Amino acid sequence: MADKNVTLGKMLYEGKAKQVFESDSKDLVVIRYKDDATAFNGEKKGQIEEKGIINNKVSASLFRLLESSGVPTHFVTRINDRDQLCRAVKIIMLEVIVRNVVAGSLAKRTGQEEGAVLPRPVVELTLKDDAKGDPLISRDEAAAAGVASAADIETMETLALKVNAILVPFLLEKKLRLIDFKLEFGRNEEGQIVLADEISPDTCRFWDAGSGEKLDKDRFRRDLGNVREAYQEVYERIGDFRFGV
Ligand code: UDP
Repeated sequence: MADKNVTLGKMLYEGKAKQVFESDSKDLVVIRYKDDATAFNGEKKGQIEEKGIINNKVSASLFRLLESSGVPTHFVTRINDRDQLCRAVKIIMLEVIVRNVVAGSLAKRTGQEEGAVLPRPVVELTLKDDAKGDPLISRDEAAAAGVASAADIETMETLALKVNAILVPFLLEKKLRLIDFKLEFGRNEEGQIVLADEISPDTCRFWDAGSGEKLDKDRFRRDLGNVREAYQEVYERIGDFRFGV
């Protein structure tokens, strides 16, 4: 990989949608976005052509936007179509979900109708534990289990709401409604909690602001067809965000 003179070291980790490699610097890693798609805790598997390229670009754009709006993140730069350079962090084993509109597991769990607008953004925590199916966990339970301190959980929830407040108007301008999304956080060398992982149609629900058409992973989960086209549409609407441009 000659781009931006980053040498790839050994693979440190492989997840469902990404691989993480050592770089030539100890505090930086290369994150590679794959085309593999999974849903229902790995029960449904497939490939979405060029998903890795699209998600790498979408996530890079949104992380640049968030950094420029004062959210600390792991993101450094996009190196090429599939790879980005990020600061090495230790991932906190919680998924932070923010919801603006009822959908997915919330609709199932509470019986509220999909599409109902929530009176205020709702934050949910789940344990990042595939073997247990990423179960919902309360703040108190997460803190008591030692997954993260109560103060760290508060920091993550505050950052997650800030991310929501930045993304909702930005996306609405692109005629995308941000229904819900999942964030992951990590701790850097200095002990600071920063936003990590990705923000893409794999991890968010995006509905077209006019028609309500789903432009996200629900197209794969629910076999709605035109999956790649929907991901590409999201990228085209968001574009390559650069601060000051
Ligand atoms: N989500 C995710 N990874 C997960 C679980 C959820 O990225 O392991 C995202 C999902 O795409 C949606 C939001 O978090 O944008 C809320 O998901 P929900 O709890 O409704 O679960 P799902 O319907 O995906 O089972």
